[in-house]
Amino acid sequence: MADTGQPSFAETALAQAGKSAEEVRRLGAVDRADEQLERLFHPQYQTKNSPVHRAVWDWHFPLGGFRSPKPEAAECDAVLERCYEVLRRAREENRLWNEQGKVSEQLLHELAEAGYWGLLIGREYGGSGVPFAKFAPFLTRMATLDATVAGLASVHGCIGAVDPLMTFGTPEQKARFLPRLASGEALSGFALTEPNAGSDLTALRTRACPVPGGYELSGQKLFITNAIPGRIIALVALLENRPAVFIVELPGTENDRFRLVRYGLYALAHNYNNGLLFDRFFVPAENLLQPPTGDGLLIAYHGLNRGRLALCALAAGSMRVMLASLLPWVHFRRTYGEPIGARELVQFRIAKLAGYIAAADALTQWGSWLLDLGYRGELEGIVAKIFGSEAMKEAAVDILMKTHGGRSFLHGHLFGDNVHDFLAPCIYEGEGQMLALAFFKALAKEHGRQFFEPIGQRLSEAHLRRLQPWNPLHLWRLRRELWAYGKWWLGRRLRPHIVTRVPPVHRQLRPHVQWAESVFPRYAEEISAMLRRYQLRLADRQVKMMELSQRIQDTVTVLVTALWADQQGDEAWILAADVVCRELRRRWSGRRIRDADVRVARQLAELVLDRRFPALQGVTEPPILMPYPEEPASG
Ligand SMILES: Cc1cc2nc3c(=O)[nH]c(=O)nc-3n(C[C@H](O)[C@H](O)[C@H](O)COP(=O)(O)OP(=O)(O)OC[C@H]3O[C@@H](n4cnc5c(N)ncnc54)[C@H](O)[C@@H]3O)c2cc1C
Repeated sequence: MADTGQPSFAETALAQAGKSAEEVRRLGAVDRADEQLERLFHPQYQTKNSPVHRAVWDWHFPLGGFRSPKPEAAECDAVLERCYEVLRRAREENRLWNEQGKVSEQLLHELAEAGYWGLLIGREYGGSGVPFAKFAPFLTRMATLDATVAGLASVHGCIGAVDPLMTFGTPEQKARFLPRLASGEALSGFALTEPNAGSDLTALRTRACPVPGGYELSGQKLFITNAIPGRIIALVALLENRPAVFIVELPGTENDRFRLVRYGLYALAHNYNNGLLFDRFFVPAENLLQPPTGDGLLIAYHGLNRGRLALCALAAGSMRVMLASLLPWVHFRRTYGEPIGARELVQFRIAKLAGYIAAADALTQWGSWLLDLGYRGELEGIVAKIFGSEAMKEAAVDILMKTHGGRSFLHGHLFGDNVHDFLAPCIYEGEGQMLALAFFKALAKEHGRQFFEPIGQRLSEAHLRRLQPWNPLHLWRLRRELWAYGKWWLGRRLRPHIVTRVPPVHRQLRPHVQWAESVFPRYAEEISAMLRRYQLRLADRQVKMMELSQRIQDTVTVLVTALWADQQGDEAWILAADVVCRELRRRWSGRRIRDADVRVARQLAELVLDRRFPALQGVTEPPILMPYPEEPASG
């Protein structure tokens, strides 16, 4: 669909709120890219028709939209298994890293042979076209072997050059690049961030100047994963003041036009991550990606939705590794004559971690299913990204570190060696709280546009700063707009919320599903009340927006996890889902821990300690550091 050229909702609202022209321009650019991306999707799959948006705003609550089918065995399983085996063997033989401590070239090559780099690339270009619902849980499995190597598949296939080319490339561009990316001849990355532009993408300074036959790039990129000479980078630069995406083939060596900017980085230490400095670096005209509408930011947003789900899948793998590391330790370590694994406090932590794994698996499966169906995946990606990264952060610091005690800080310990990798996902692919605001805005946009934009317009025409509901003159001037809104408001109160039923769920999970059903309908009124209260100043009420955003996200997580665990039909998964749902609902309502919460957690912990938690199948338990002979039994 063509770009309408209309100001976006954010631009209109900010202008009406009296923001500076500069702020309106910058935030408007981001919002416009978002709306352009939205229009690329069939209406049925746009954000406003996603299960989350509909659960908040529609009369019909699409409960079925929160229950994804279990992925079935498929032909592509063979290639996934081959890749897994390659990594398993390399790890077993202790040859993951090269002399610089980065993923070894030999392993990259073996993975290429197994088809790892072409998983998300169509068969016609030499890949295997694996559906995302298969790819994401596969990443979880790979991350149980090694999170860095698993993460590379996401950098390459989701946020790197693969997704931009697969989705926005011309047939010629696809034919030129995708076979090389599928075969692993060239790995890829994505270059968006700059020293002065991270969360604020309107601050980009790297420029592309048209020259005969192409463009010259000048500027600096920062924090670019997988960026070394010889790789293919999807790079965002300003072309005639609008962001554009170029497929950049980095030369095999640095030169006057292209240099790496090196620094020490704690996170992702086994990956290359560099700054890129360009000085009139030539890129052929045919390497510019041209989306059907809008500018390059929408290309970036598209890949990021996939990357965020992949991030949750990777967190699910890393949290399994954490849990597996705890089992031998809590059985071995005794204090005051008892193994620490027998203590309620430690059992509660173990259960919590198992619960986080269940929720991360559930969100991954659900979001991937929706992406495969053709949904845009914006809201789902944000829920999964924030949950996955925050759960992993808490699991690392509050569960892994505390339970392993002083040994956490020994060289060779899972926590000490990887703590930065456990924390960094809170920042990359969008800092979590910024994303929480974006989630809120995505939910509020349609309603704001329908009812509050006309009110704002009328106010500005009448030279009034804000609506004063007690002022009869205001009421008279805005009678049409207020009547339209009043009808919505009254209708909301009078009409029942109709829930599309799914088959009955396990009795232990049913209360969570019922709770989600009962709280979702309130959110429409809460969002609307915030728009009423703060009117055009709502954009500045970040703390309130974030708080409500988090509550809605938690409701989504509860519902998706409960329905997912019911489908697994396994006692341990059901208990794990129950534990995490109780935890999220406690956070939601601020209520205290009940005896029943502890009882369920201990039940789950017993199963986990007994090594009967299905998530840990095939996950290696590491040796205990600084071991000591067990005390001989007295008597
Ligand atoms: C290990 C690692 C790998 C990375 N890999 C890549 C990569 O491959 N490619 C790439 O392009 N980038 C990459 N990044 C960069 C990453 O995406 C950015 O760091 C991230 O987007 C945040 O940007 P920033 O660091 O500039 O933070 P800033 O934008 O400086 O934000 C700092 C803080 O300010 C807050 N803030 C900013 N604006 C606002 C606002 N308007 N309102 C309220 N609060 C605000 C944020 O919430 C945040 O807490 C990587 C980063 C790391 C750490």
